[in-house]
Amino acid sequence: MLETPVREGELAALKEQAAACRRCRLAQTRTQVVFGVGNPRADLMFVGEAPGFHEDKQGLPFVGQAGKLLDKLLASIGLERSDVYIANVLKCRPPGNRDPMPDEIELCETYLFRQIEAIEPKLVATLGNFATKLLSGKQLGITRVHGQEQEVTLGGTRVLLYPIYHPAAALYTPRMLEVLEEDFRRIPELMGRVLTEPLGAPASSAPALAAAAPAPAVQLGLF
Ligand code: URA
Repeated sequence: MLETPVREGELAALKEQAAACRRCRLAQTRTQVVFGVGNPRADLMFVGEAPGFHEDKQGLPFVGQAGKLLDKLLASIGLERSDVYIANVLKCRPPGNRDPMPDEIELCETYLFRQIEAIEPKLVATLGNFATKLLSGKQLGITRVHGQEQEVTLGGTRVLLYPIYHPAAALYTPRMLEVLEEDFRRIPELMGRVLTEPLGAPASSAPALAAAAPAPAVQLGLF
């Protein structure tokens, strides 16, 4: 278990590193890197897909329409942004908000894994297909797996992974919004879950997160 100043220091160092990142083509078109924001001790972390137009301009995740919906959903369970941590699979905006490409995800994922390692959240809610597939290591689409929590070990951290619809998808599809609201209502209960230790993997000998990265990412849509 990391102490708070260590977590904050690790996240700050990682943010600085990401800010100068030129690993992929998105460095040529981004305005700025959108690293992530929130409480470094958060029990609940959200992982979206990639920054959009407004996020790229402001340098913060989920500040556009989808972000407003996320704020409303958080309020519906008595939480606000400062209680949670919000990040994306990609830290830079794909031009025209196109889907992330597999090589972009592969080159960027280490930032996300190291964020999870530093924050040690209890519950990681993946928003949509890209985050869900990357962190579950499975290719099952969000329509099939939304609302189905599963314990996973991301590096040394045992977390409950909770796939839910992406708020951007729910913005335009009322039925999807209902399902997202329904899935959101389970979050408080899931945050209280006591997780089992993975067999034969004591926390002290846990591998580094990047080394334990799940299966290669693939390119799939929001839902
Ligand atoms: N959609 C995402 O997946 N992430 C953002 O930060 C904004 C919109």
